[in-house]
Amino acid sequence: MVAARTSDTGRGTSQQVDVAVVGAGFAGLYLLHRLRKAGLTAVGLEEAGDVGGTWYWNRYPGARCDIQTIDYSYTFDPDLETAWTWSEKYATQPEILRYLGFVADRYDLRRDIRFKTKVTEAKWDEAIERWQLTTDNGAAVSCRHYIMATGCLSAPKPPEIDGVKDFKGEVYFTGRWPHDGVNLAGKRVAVIGTGSSAIQSIPLIAEQAAHLTVFQRTPNFALPAHNGPAPSDRMSLLQGDRAAYREQARQSMAGVPYPQQTVVSWQLSDAERRERFERAWAAGDLVHILTQLWADQAVDIDGNKIVQDLIREKIRAAVKDPETAAALMPDDHPFGAKRPCLDTNYYATYNRPNVTLVNLRQEPIKAITASGITTAKRSVDVDVIVFATGFDAMTGAIRAVHPITGRGGKSLTDVWAQGPQTYLGLTVAGFPNFFMITGPGSPSVLSNMAVSIEQHVDWVVDRLKALRDGGFTTIEPTETAQAGWNRHMADCSMVTLHRLANTWYTGANVPGKVQGLMPYTGGVGPYRSICDEVVSRGMLGFKLT
Ligand code: FAD
Repeated sequence: MVAARTSDTGRGTSQQVDVAVVGAGFAGLYLLHRLRKAGLTAVGLEEAGDVGGTWYWNRYPGARCDIQTIDYSYTFDPDLETAWTWSEKYATQPEILRYLGFVADRYDLRRDIRFKTKVTEAKWDEAIERWQLTTDNGAAVSCRHYIMATGCLSAPKPPEIDGVKDFKGEVYFTGRWPHDGVNLAGKRVAVIGTGSSAIQSIPLIAEQAAHLTVFQRTPNFALPAHNGPAPSDRMSLLQGDRAAYREQARQSMAGVPYPQQTVVSWQLSDAERRERFERAWAAGDLVHILTQLWADQAVDIDGNKIVQDLIREKIRAAVKDPETAAALMPDDHPFGAKRPCLDTNYYATYNRPNVTLVNLRQEPIKAITASGITTAKRSVDVDVIVFATGFDAMTGAIRAVHPITGRGGKSLTDVWAQGPQTYLGLTVAGFPNFFMITGPGSPSVLSNMAVSIEQHVDWVVDRLKALRDGGFTTIEPTETAQAGWNRHMADCSMVTLHRLANTWYTGANVPGKVQGLMPYTGGVGPYRSICDEVVSRGMLGFKLT
C-alpha cells in the first residue's frame, strides 16, 4: 500500500489519504484489508483502544453472539477460515475479540489504525473534492472517500430516568462494561432493561449477587441457546462444501444458509406444527426458528400468532410463579418483529429466591435516588445499577459525528430530519464519496452481520477501484434513485410484520427519534442482487464525475 502522508494544505495540517475508515470492528478491519489490496491509501480512526468494535465494548457477563459462530465469521479468505476454530456454537465475547485481534495481526492491520481517536466532524470540501475530518486526538484527516464503519449497535442509549447522578452506588452500562470486570458478589444489584444484553447477563449476575432486581418495561421473546460445540450437522454441511455453504448464506434471506420455507402454517396439522416447533426449540438456533417453521410466520399475523403462543407456553412452563411468568410473556409485538434473544438459563433464573422481577408497565420508575430505585409502588435499595438499556441503533453513531456537511453546506442532520434517506443504505444524495457500512436502508441488523458487512465492503471497495481506474473522482447517488430506494424500502416493509412493532428497528426506544423502520426487509440475497444490478446497469442511480 502507498503510505499515507501528512501535509499542510493551507487548511491546517492534516493526514492525507485516499480513504478514511471510521471504526475498527468487523467492518472497519475488512475495509482496511480490502483497500490495501486495492492499492488505496487508508487510515482507520477508532475511538476505542484496540480493534473489535462491538466486541471491544460489550464485556458484560454472558456476552456472546446469537448467530452461530461458524456463520458469524469472515469468509473472504479460505485460509483464514481453516486457520481459526471456534470452541463453541455461540462464542463468548472474549473469544470473538481474540478472533478479531487474530485477523488484525494476520493481515497486519493495526499499523493503519489510529486508536483512541474519535471523529467529531466531517466536511466535504467542494473545491478540492475531498472530505476533511476533525478528530479529538491528533491530526485532522483529508480523504477522497469517507466510510463510516461505525456500527449499528455502537452508540449506547443514555438512561432516561431522573436522578441517575444522585445514586451513591456503582453504575455500569452493559455496552461500556469495565475491562477488568466487576465484582458483584454479595451485592444488591438492579438491572434495568430486558433486551438481549440483559437476557445474556441476568443469569450470571444472579449467580453472584446477594439479590438481583430486574426492572422490565417490555418483555422479549427468548429462545434456548443450547450452547456447546458447533452442531455436527451444520459442521458437516460447512466442511462438506465450504464454498457452496458460504454462497448459500450470501443468497439467503438472513445471511445464514437455510432454505426458503414454502409450506404455510395452515397446510400443516397441529401435530405437524408442534413437531416442527419442538425440533426448532431443541436446535437452539435463532435463525432456524425465525425462518424454518412455516413460510407465513414473518408475513402473516395468524401464522405468526401460532409461534407466539407456542413460545408463551414454554415461558409458562419454565417460570414457576404464574405472575412472573405472565409478566415475562411478550404480547405487544409479533415474534421476530423485534430481534428475539437467546436464553441460557434466562427464564429459569426467575425461579431463584434471590431474583425479583419488577414489571414497569404496572409500576413505572419514578426516580433513581441516592440509595436505589423508586417505582410507583415501592423503593428498592441497591448497591449496583446495571443499565442494559440498549443503543441508539443504526443512526446513533452516524449522527454523533456532527455536523457531517455535504455539498452546498447541507448537514446530514437536516437531510435526515424526517428519518434516514439513503440509496441502497450505502450512500446519501448530496454527500459525494460518503459511504456507510450496514447503514439504515440496508439489511443490516436483520441479517447475519458478518455476511452483510462483507457484501457491503466488497461492493464499496470494488466501486472505489472502478472509479479510480475510470479516471473519476466523485460518486454520488441521484435524488431520484434515493427516493426510489426509500419507496422500495417502504413497500418491502408493508409485506413483513416488522411494521407492527415499536422497536429499536424503528427508533421507538429513543425519545424524540423520528420513527420508521430503518433496516431493509427485502432480504440479504435479494439485496445483493440489487446492488449487483446497479453495477451491471452502468451504476444505475449514481452520478460519477
Ligand atoms: P462495530 O463493531 O459496532 O464497530 C464500530 C466501531 O466504530 C466501534 O469500535 C466504535 O468505537 C467506532 N466508532 C463509532 N463512531 C466513531 C467515531 N465517531 N470515531 C471513531 N470511532 C468510532 N450481529 C450478528 O450478526 N450476530 C450476532 O450474534 C451479534 N451479536 C451481537 C451481540 C452484541 C452484544 C451486540 C452489541 C451486537 C451484536 N451483533 C451481532 C451486531 C454487531 O454489532 C455486528 O455483528 C458487528 O460486530 C458490527 O461490526 P461493525 O464493524 O459494523 O461495527
